[in-house]
Parts: sequence; structure tokens; C-alpha cells
Amino acid sequence: METGRRVLTRLAIAGLVLVLLPAADAAAASARQSAAPLAGRIVGIDPGHNGLNYTSPAFLSRKIWNGREWEGCDTTGTRTASGYTEARFAWNVAAYLRADLVALGARVVMTRSGNHGLGPCVDKRARILDRAHANVSVDIHADYGPASGRGFSILEPVADGPNNQVIKPSARFGLDIHAAMLRYARLRVSDYYGRNGYVSRDDLAGLNLTTMPKVLIECGNMHNAADAALLVRPGVQRGIAAALAAAIVRFLTAR
Ligand code: ZN
Repeated sequence: METGRRVLTRLAIAGLVLVLLPAADAAAASARQSAAPLAGRIVGIDPGHNGLNYTSPAFLSRKIWNGREWEGCDTTGTRTASGYTEARFAWNVAAYLRADLVALGARVVMTRSGNHGLGPCVDKRARILDRAHANVSVDIHADYGPASGRGFSILEPVADGPNNQVIKPSARFGLDIHAAMLRYARLRVSDYYGRNGYVSRDDLAGLNLTTMPKVLIECGNMHNAADAALLVRPGVQRGIAAALAAAIVRFLTAR
């Protein structure tokens, strides 16, 4: 027969176990959450241009409605003096970014599936991401600026109807990318375009037609020899992807 004291001790231990079990569950859940901070989130990536765009000027010159005016379907994109194309650069960064985001738990939607195709047009790219109901999206490009200019710039939407609800969050996302690019990619802010690297653009389908927070990043200037030498390096491309992933995590989880 148990003494009252023993019974109390047993009850106390049982209670402790009951208290500890949920705590252990919560710790495991929290560990899972920190390993997959983007679980349940959808992220859109639009790698600018495409590897075979140059093969069809007729396709590129089709007119599309960008929400304010008629615009060309797309362009070939630019290239470095050595011939490394912006389409290839954008695809590589996008592929690294997709891997990073999937590892963080996100579902990723891309506007093209490789770098050996033609298109799609810029309005269709916007619609692909809109229809996927992405929580946030980024358009990845590199610029062709003055040969003496360097650095990245962030292009942000201007309210035009479809995007009215996402102007402020897009600006917040732009701040997160700006900070992450400096911290993780270690690239410099544009010294030739925008104000401190920020530019508002009302003439791009990707920004006019978006219904989610989105910015377009020009990661550097392919016309500048020093920027071009950086942009073609896989390590730099991975660093840009890591910076964009960090900005996306911050944008979607830190507020
Ligand atoms: Zn471009």
C-alpha cells in the first residue's frame, strides 16, 4: 500500500511529464519552424529575358499592354563585353535562389523553366506570378548603363490600378533587398541610376500588373568592366541569391 507521500510524488512526476511533453513538442515545432521559415509561403521568381530571345525579333517586337501603355513583348537583354548574357546571368541567380527558397520551405513559381527558350512576354510573366498567388516576387536583371557606372539598383512599382495595394509593401521589400545585397552579396549601390539605388518605374509590365509585393533588381552594370567581372562569377551569383533569399525571409517573417 502506498503512503500518501508516495502517491503525491508519483502524481507530481506524472504532472511534470505532462508539462514537459507539450514543451518538448513545442521545441520540436519551433526547431522545424526555424529550419523552414518559409513553409506554406509561395515565392515568385522572374529571371529576365530568355536564352533564345535573340532568335526571334518578330516575337520580341509584339506589342503587349503593360497597364499604362503598349510595350514590346521583351528584349534580348544585355551582355558583357565578353559575351556573357544577361539572360544566362538572371537564370543562374534564379536557379540558386530557387534552391535556397525550397530549402527554407517555400513553394517557388518561376516564369521560365530554363535558359534555352523564347519568352514568355513580360505581361504573361506578370500573370504567371499573379495567378500563382505568390506572397512576394522578384524580377532578376542586370543593366546596361554608362561604362563608368557601377552597382545595383532596385526598381519599384508606381500605383496604376492593379498594383495599388502593393506599393507600400513593395517599398518595404525593396529596403530589405537593399540591406541584404550590401550585407550578404557585398555589392555596391548604383552610382549612376536612381536615388541611393532606388528607382520608381511606371513603364514596366512586371511592376504595373503585379498584384503582390514585387521589385525588379538590376544586380549590376554589365557594361562596366569591374561589375561585369563580378556578375559572371558563380560565387557572386550565389551570393546575390543568398541575399535575395535573406530579404525574402525577412520580408515574409520579420514583421
Ligand atoms: Zn533586363
